[in-house]
Amino acid sequence: MPTQMQIEQITLVRTPQGRPVEADFALGPGTLPDVAALAEGHALVRVLALSLDPYLRSAMAGRHLSAAIAPGEVVRGEGLVEVTASRHPRMAPGSRWVAACGWRSAASLDPAAIEAARPVAPAIDPPTLALGVLGMPGLTAWAGFTKLAQARAGDTFVVSAAAGPVGATVGQLARIAGCRVVGIAGGPDKCRWVTEVAGLDACIDHRAPGEGGLRGALKRVCPDGVDVYFDNVGGDVLLAVCEQLALGARVVLCGLIAQYNGEAPVPLNPGLIIRARATLRGLVVYDHWADLPRMTAELSGHLAAGRLHFREDRSAGLASAPTAFVRLMNGLNQGKALVVL
Ligand code: NDP
Repeated sequence: MPTQMQIEQITLVRTPQGRPVEADFALGPGTLPDVAALAEGHALVRVLALSLDPYLRSAMAGRHLSAAIAPGEVVRGEGLVEVTASRHPRMAPGSRWVAACGWRSAASLDPAAIEAARPVAPAIDPPTLALGVLGMPGLTAWAGFTKLAQARAGDTFVVSAAAGPVGATVGQLARIAGCRVVGIAGGPDKCRWVTEVAGLDACIDHRAPGEGGLRGALKRVCPDGVDVYFDNVGGDVLLAVCEQLALGARVVLCGLIAQYNGEAPVPLNPGLIIRARATLRGLVVYDHWADLPRMTAELSGHLAAGRLHFREDRSAGLASAPTAFVRLMNGLNQGKALVVL
């Protein structure tokens, strides 16, 4: 007779309106098939850490490339997992993976989820790096920088959300390539980390940019214009940087966090792009999975050499996931947002 094991899980209670709040989520019990009832081709995993990513907010509104997360469903998302039982040849018990486990303490992975999972090499230390700099955010940064930005030594390179896993990695790759790098981040703590630890040349605090607002700060810090802008936020930050583009500028459109909570898209004046003879390129990390080993090798080398720095924002316990996600969507995370179980 099939048996079940008890787990904890977090469901989406209702679609968030505007910025998400804790009451949009609920922690409750769930069940999984017991080892004895595990179907052929499936695996059971223990969740070690959840990756909280801004795109989940868009998925909760049904606006993301990935499938929508509807009220009543367990919140989807990837995590670092350890296999506890397996009836699939790809997953050995005890091995660690990044997989679509959802916001649960343990999960049953079906064959499709197992095929899409990515192994975590034991050399990756701490293993949570596979959710950050050496995972999806790192690949986003690496692919955007290496394949789309076309940055050259000496370029003035601006990156927004510069203290997060995507932005900080992009900024440091640009610094390593010899660009003059300016971050945009929210608050003095983030800006201090961006310049003093990540080693960017300057950082503009978009919450307190000084005289003339963000536009004034950009003019002061980038008097000759912006050669490359890596946009992680959209909104007014994108408009302000586009007003400051240098001739031949390249803009990588990566993220839209200023719109994820339902804000209207900003009207970008094409005249700004024409005037600068600029090139805009959209980035979707899913196009670049084949480059994961190359990215991992390159960024691991930079990490080992002390050229690349990262920061993790760790919350403890599954129950803390809603609060941690609310903090992320309010810009209060300091580095890669993780929930460690
Ligand atoms: P972060 O950890 O950087 O978190 C997002 C940050 O965005 C916040 O900490 C906050 O930083 C900033 N922010 C939040 N709201 C606003 C706002 N209204 N205006 C300006 N800034 C805001 O996230 P990630 O590094 O994981 O991701 C960065 C971006 O890259 C996101 O937009 C994400 O969706 C996107 N992305 C895109 C991918 C793709 O394939 N195109 C793949 C992966 C990520 P601060 O306080 O510094 O402003």
